[in-house]
Amino acid sequence: MIAAQLLAYYFTELKDDQLKRIDKYLYSMRFSDDTLKDIMNRYRREMESGLGRDTNATATVKMLPTFVRSIPDGSEKGDFLALDLGGSNFRILRVKVTQDKKQPVQMESQVYDTPDDIIHGSGTQLFDHVAECLGDFMEKQKIKDKKLPVGFTFSFPCAQTKLDEAVLLTWTKKFRASGVEGMDVVKLLNKAIKKRGVRTGTNACYMEELRHIDLVEGDEGRMCINTEWGAFGDDGSLEDLRTEFDREIDRGSMNPGKQLFEKMVSGQYMGELVRLILVKMAKEGLLFEGRITPELLTRGKIETKHVSAIEKSKEGLKKCMEILTRLGVEPSDEDCLAVQHVCTIVSFRSANLISATLGAILCRLKDNKGVARLRTTVGIDGSLYKMHPQYARRLHKTVRRLVPDSDVRFLLSESGSGKGAAMVTAVAYRLTEQARQIQQTLAEFRLNTSQLLEVKKRMKVEIERGLRKETHKEATVKMLPTFVRRTPDGTENGDFLALDLGGTNFRVLLVKIRSGKKRSVEMHNKIYAIPIEVMQGTGEELFDHIVHCISDFLDYMGMKSARLPLGFTFSFPCHQTSLDAGILVNWTKGFKATDCEGEDVVELLREAIKRKEEFELDVVAIVNDTVGTMMTCAYEEPTCEVGLIAGTGSNACYMEEMKNIETVPGTEGRMCVNMEWGAFGDNGCLDDIRTKYDQAVDENSLNEGKQRYEKMCSGMYLGEIVRQILIDLTKRGFLFRGQISETLKTRGIFETKFLSQIESDRLALLQVRAILQQLGLDSTCDDSIIVKEVCGTVSRRAAQICGAGMAAVVDKIRENRGLDHLDVTVGVDGTLYKLHPHFSRIFLQTVKELAPKCDVNFLLSEDGSGKGAALITAVGCRQRELDAQNQ
Ligand code: ADP
Ligand code: MG
Repeated sequence: MIAAQLLAYYFTELKDDQLKRIDKYLYSMRFSDDTLKDIMNRYRREMESGLGRDTNATATVKMLPTFVRSIPDGSEKGDFLALDLGGSNFRILRVKVTQDKKQPVQMESQVYDTPDDIIHGSGTQLFDHVAECLGDFMEKQKIKDKKLPVGFTFSFPCAQTKLDEAVLLTWTKKFRASGVEGMDVVKLLNKAIKKRGVRTGTNACYMEELRHIDLVEGDEGRMCINTEWGAFGDDGSLEDLRTEFDREIDRGSMNPGKQLFEKMVSGQYMGELVRLILVKMAKEGLLFEGRITPELLTRGKIETKHVSAIEKSKEGLKKCMEILTRLGVEPSDEDCLAVQHVCTIVSFRSANLISATLGAILCRLKDNKGVARLRTTVGIDGSLYKMHPQYARRLHKTVRRLVPDSDVRFLLSESGSGKGAAMVTAVAYRLTEQARQIQQTLAEFRLNTSQLLEVKKRMKVEIERGLRKETHKEATVKMLPTFVRRTPDGTENGDFLALDLGGTNFRVLLVKIRSGKKRSVEMHNKIYAIPIEVMQGTGEELFDHIVHCISDFLDYMGMKSARLPLGFTFSFPCHQTSLDAGILVNWTKGFKATDCEGEDVVELLREAIKRKEEFELDVVAIVNDTVGTMMTCAYEEPTCEVGLIAGTGSNACYMEEMKNIETVPGTEGRMCVNMEWGAFGDNGCLDDIRTKYDQAVDENSLNEGKQRYEKMCSGMYLGEIVRQILIDLTKRGFLFRGQISETLKTRGIFETKFLSQIESDRLALLQVRAILQQLGLDSTCDDSIIVKEVCGTVSRRAAQICGAGMAAVVDKIRENRGLDHLDVTVGVDGTLYKLHPHFSRIFLQTVKELAPKCDVNFLLSEDGSGKGAALITAVGCRQRELDAQNQ
């Protein structure tokens, strides 16, 4: 017994000795953790340059996005099944992707019922049902035996760490099946999937945060990046780690100098590496007593599967003996021991290197997510990992050692590339289907010419109803007389005060108009805020505030004692009985002060001035901003007989024949009519083109049911329409990952100026995302494409229906005058018109198309509300003098 123990001891000693010798011999293949961390860092740098826009071209690790879905390159082919669960229907599709240019994607699909008891039953029931439907579909398609890859579109929030893994975080929508949350739904479904495909070589997939992928615009927030790490080291960055054996392998390869990392780690080269080492050792007399056989010298005689066999713990040495014997080297027991150790070192090095690169990826993921501890699953495929007896365990251990703050799960991926392709197809399908539904939603906003002509026709009808005595009362487009009977002629002269209320700002202005040779208009103004509580408080408070601002302005100008004539631009619908009397019909836009509707606002102003007892003013005219705009432009251009506002609100005015204005006595000459066209549609006449989003905007407004046309086309509401659409698209899972944020729920966040920015043609999508980011909307590039399209569609419709209204107006003027052709100028004001990148162009096109018999010239007004009010006041003052003389 003692002898036997001694013998065993002797062998152990011998073995240890032998192994130590080999360790020493191959020291350059054995990495310390420090070296591995160094490799990790090198690889992180490589990934960064692979992801960078400027560095990608020269980077060795290309970091290829795998889901590049926005631009299919036409090389996709295949026959796939796709399941789509989570929309309103459960459907199964068969998708054939061919290289046929005319019909690259053919789809057949069937919708299956998902009864409520299944939706609310157990997870097992649900997936059984899905599998059953799949079976039925395959039977009907006669593809039961075809083993087609299946892609699974699962429209619920999932934690996805790999292409074919998705852990359901929480059910949304109507789904409630138990025991599924926290589970990998792909795995749950996998029972129904036929598996196929084996892979060799090494590569990794992981989900990269899009914000780091400069190269890809227009894709999911995360995407699967194919790191293509095989090329790591091709720029020389691994030279210090490569051995003479690696160099020899490379020299003998099909692609010398390329895929250097791959050649160090992949199963394809592992047997060969071992062989080269054995040859050298034999040559140096360290093995086989120096015997070298032609077999040993033959490339490929030692394969990776041999390495795996040799490293098996129990029968490894026996296998080693067999393999070496076949090579004719007549191995001793010690030789076998030594060769086994060589194999271990080579395969261990591979696992170590892979661990280092994987570790680098995991560190990056961890940093991207900004978490203290990374939980993730790595799916691994490849025969070396699967077949080699120790490889997987070594890899796991090393990765966990290198990335200590992590819970990494390793998942053997047996699916091969087929399923991945189906996933991509399914994703592509889902995006196509989404795109279709989004287009369907937006189609309601896309009006064709005949619809626009209809809008024009209806506007004409409403204009007539507003003008006629017997219909005026119930008319929605009120056609309010303004008592402005003519446009300025350049002889206006004097100093005037003007107030501008009803726009974004409240302003007080001093306007000095000079006639004759010194003809000029000089303006001084000061802007005052009207707090929302004043806008929506009592009328008395509102007018006291206004007078307070005037008082401040007069102090500021040093003009308190001058009793100046004043023009009051009050941009709300008013019934005027004279130039200086206007009864507020109803508030619009953001105003809602009490005790004003039905009152003469000039009187309210005069009373407030009296209450103040500080100064006197002569209120000469109440002016609508449209009229001010028309007058300002007419001062420069006598053919200007129409005014248009496209700002916070939408409105127009024009010179109408007195004989048509039945609400004012007299038939001679013309008078400017404030159309108040914002109320167009309040009788339901636009209901066929109003969408549910328009209705939602209306319901959320201060004046429900009122100003329906304005709510479709003015600056105050465009953003709200957009927001309503975005909420709906998000609810349907097409945007913002189906999550409706608090921001999106916030009324008014989408100011029209953001629409202008987003729609600017000069913006790249990334900049659109930045804008959304500023708004607090965390968007993907896909989201930003959709948002941009929504904005464009809403503003286009606005410009078009506004243009249809204007076409009705100019054609009315033309008909009034019995002309075949009319040349007319429209004075325009409003930030929407002036600053939106497309509104004015589309508006002009529409007018041109819908009123072909009119040549309409558009003139931008410079401060119509101030200058125009002063001009009207000047005209009014002179009229008063004339009237006095005549009496
Ligand atoms: P108002 O009509 O209130 O007298 P504006 O003509 O200046 O004043 O219009 C202001 C409105 O214009 C804002 O309420 C907003 O809806 C819209 N707006 C503001 N900035 C922009 C912009 N950059 N592009 C388009 N519309 C804008
Ligand atoms: Mg204005």
